[in-house]
Amino acid sequence: MSSILIENVHIAPVVGPEIPSGHIHVEGDRIAAVGAGPAPDVPGAARIDGTGCLATPGLVNTHHHLYQWASQGLAQDATLFEWLTALYQVWAAMDAEVVRGAAGAGLGHLALSGCTTSSDHHYIFPKGRGDLFAAEIEAAREVGLRFHPARGSMDRGKSQGGLPPDVVVERLDEILDATAEAVDTYHDPSFSSMLRVAVAPCSPFSVSADLMTEAAALARSKGVRLHTHLAETLDEEEHCLRQVGQRPVDYMEKLGWLGPDVWFAHAVHLSDGDIDVFAQTGTGSAHCPSSNGRLGAGIARVSEMLHRGANVGLGVDGSASAELTSLSGEMRQALLFQRARYGPTALTARQALEIATLGGARNLGRQEELGSLEAGKLADIALWRTGATGAFASAVADPVCALVFGTRQPPLARLLVGGRTVVEDDELRNVAQDGLGRAGGEAHRRLMRLAAEQGFGIS
Ligand SMILES: [Zn+2]
Repeated sequence: MSSILIENVHIAPVVGPEIPSGHIHVEGDRIAAVGAGPAPDVPGAARIDGTGCLATPGLVNTHHHLYQWASQGLAQDATLFEWLTALYQVWAAMDAEVVRGAAGAGLGHLALSGCTTSSDHHYIFPKGRGDLFAAEIEAAREVGLRFHPARGSMDRGKSQGGLPPDVVVERLDEILDATAEAVDTYHDPSFSSMLRVAVAPCSPFSVSADLMTEAAALARSKGVRLHTHLAETLDEEEHCLRQVGQRPVDYMEKLGWLGPDVWFAHAVHLSDGDIDVFAQTGTGSAHCPSSNGRLGAGIARVSEMLHRGANVGLGVDGSASAELTSLSGEMRQALLFQRARYGPTALTARQALEIATLGGARNLGRQEELGSLEAGKLADIALWRTGATGAFASAVADPVCALVFGTRQPPLARLLVGGRTVVEDDELRNVAQDGLGRAGGEAHRRLMRLAAEQGFGIS
């Protein structure tokens, strides 16, 4: 079993007090010890000098649509419903090759922003275009990130009162079969798991009530988690009131979609009562501030949710609604959004770090394994060069402030996933970084070409 000692480092463990100069001892894929002062003598251990660095838990991304890397920069000034309507049929042209290129670039980009675990919500599966779910899993393995892909789905097209065109939806029985197969094929429930699958019908305006209840039953029979979009915009609330006579959270309650095994993306438009229901039921949410800002969706009540005991994690959301957003940058966005709404004490830098790490781990049901730097947890660690001589951030004495407040992320000295190096000095280690970037660009051009061939060109 390999040993690593990170020394002379400022440690922000998220749980427990910060250690201004300490060490982290990694054995195999776990953290063996976190402590103040010099590292113990461990024969054969690799030593990493953390002088001038801040160690945090690896960041956890709890909402994404990796395929959207291939459709960035489109419908730039649209509302959510306008943007979706413009893009559904472009996305319907994607194939496994598009997903492979987009997911590789998206996951590489996430790793470079300190992310060690990412979920993904993939909900469009055009027929005859290869195994899209397998393609993103392959990309995550190549980059080296812990991956929680959610098998998404839509079964309520326009003819059934839904928003998406009928051409992008699947039949309920096909969805349940494919989702069960995805769980059976890929889900690993072990402590060290690199891959867990969630069940994720897309949204209240693209999914039938039957699919929601059947999906919940399926997930619970298999012991996996549930994820969907909820309360993202006021248009969605109006849609729910018109079609099912209930606001989104009330509708979820009726469908059995609240509980400690559920996390929702966005949760922007919540009432006081909704927030209390989230807290009481242990329902989590993924805050995606850049996406909410880009689409003009609103500002989630994150500081109130935290105050009332509801769990919040962070998400970059799909690259087509957030545009190259980094996960480290979402800490800053979350902090600024809350302060813009509630004042300067609404969210501290350390709270932003906590939702980006432990909050995310809770959303994914992995708070025992991930989200803080503690002995016994998995060695998912980000080492930020906040105070190194010559670094711009070195003018800031508080390294957590330097990490969260700045627009420019401090250099990422090292990113460990289960003790294995994924990033070193801002370079991906398992895969050629420029190759990933090229493949992401190719995925975009391929998707635009495939969409144009089907008569759905867009600019
Ligand atoms: Zn989303």
